[in-house]
Amino acid sequence: MTELGPSPLAAGDRQISLTDARAAIAAALQPIHGRECVPLMQALGRVLAEDVLSSIDVPAHDNSAMDGYAFDGAALHADATTTLNSVGTVYAGTPYTGRLAAGECLRIMTGAVMPEGLDTVVPLELCRSAGARVEIEPGVIRPGENLRRRGEDLARGKPALRAGRVLRPADLGLVASLGIAEVGVVRRLRVALFSTGDELRTLGQALAPGCVYDSNRYALMAALQRLGMDIVDLGLVRDDPAALQATLEIAIAQADVVLTSGGVSAGDADHTRTLLARLGEVAFWKVAMRPGRPFAFGPLHAGGRSSWLFALPGNPVAALVTFYAFVRDGLLQLAGASPDPLPVLQARCVHAIRKRPGRTELQRGRLSPAPEGGWQVQITGSQGAGILRSMSEANALVVLQHDQGSVAAGERVDVWLFDGLV
Ligand code: AMP
Ligand code: MG
Repeated sequence: MTELGPSPLAAGDRQISLTDARAAIAAALQPIHGRECVPLMQALGRVLAEDVLSSIDVPAHDNSAMDGYAFDGAALHADATTTLNSVGTVYAGTPYTGRLAAGECLRIMTGAVMPEGLDTVVPLELCRSAGARVEIEPGVIRPGENLRRRGEDLARGKPALRAGRVLRPADLGLVASLGIAEVGVVRRLRVALFSTGDELRTLGQALAPGCVYDSNRYALMAALQRLGMDIVDLGLVRDDPAALQATLEIAIAQADVVLTSGGVSAGDADHTRTLLARLGEVAFWKVAMRPGRPFAFGPLHAGGRSSWLFALPGNPVAALVTFYAFVRDGLLQLAGASPDPLPVLQARCVHAIRKRPGRTELQRGRLSPAPEGGWQVQITGSQGAGILRSMSEANALVVLQHDQGSVAAGERVDVWLFDGLV
């Protein structure tokens, strides 16, 4: 039998870097198939399934960029006052059909079609007018100014937006400007979500000694909602292989992705590992990062269907941080999206931070304008992997890179903006 090369998922128990884990996920995933047509009003945040071609020139006609007087730029005198005679008014939406004689101009409104033979608009505030007489001093305007050319925004037949675009408000305006009322988008990605842990309680239940409320499902559900996912909430699952298997089978039957939290750290991993090996080719990674070390990822199969499992650590901060570090981009990739990479800002770190090289650390921080200009970032209290308050107070993650050592107060650090992390 031929030996196959190591699969990108085969890191096994080896510790891998955050960058390698991201790359292995990106290499494994293929965009889903399935398209639907949606009215433009409901297309915000959806992923374009195909290029949107411009069916018309936008603008459809040369038109005025200003309120002013339209005239033939050849009439301008370079070193003397130009005097014109206004013979009418052109409004937006009502093209002027007459023809002008030499020395004549028209009062024109912004957006009005440029009458034939005219190519220049002098704004009202740059000329003098008395009755029909309009005077323009030399040097205030050049021929061709304040004219919006036909097709300068979008030329007919050219792509206005590319497939993979996550539609934003300006994109919807652009599509509407083409007269297109519906767009072809990728169907929503279905994500099944559940939490694992015998100690977890649902909201509304009494909290017995040693138990905690299941907060991960709320935080992860919200993160999924922001990404426009179609969510299947499968609730809480006990640390019991049979219950876990039954829930996974339900999840695989319905969803493209199964997102879980808890049950992948050293203490729990053994039975989870046996079960997942039965259902697919899931790799357990120890990612060299903090928070978020235990993480499992890979394909699962049941009943003739397949799904991708992202199994996050149970600690609430670790669950969210690994969501942002791995799941977010993975889901967007599966959903056919090609978003711009998240911006990494540089900020002055207010405190010293101890760190050893060899793992990526993501600290919760608050980014604010620095008194000297630029940005500063302040760490939001205790960085324990279970301390959600410091995550809730943060608006950014300070990224201390894999090979980086301790940071001195005042040093510059990389920062991921939280509100960019939608
Ligand atoms: P685990 O990864 O299952 O070992 O869990 C690590 C820690 O996270 C434990 O203290 C759990 O109680 C806590 N934890 C696990 N899942 C959740 C959850 N859904 N909500 C809140 N805390 C959790
Ligand atoms: Mg657990």
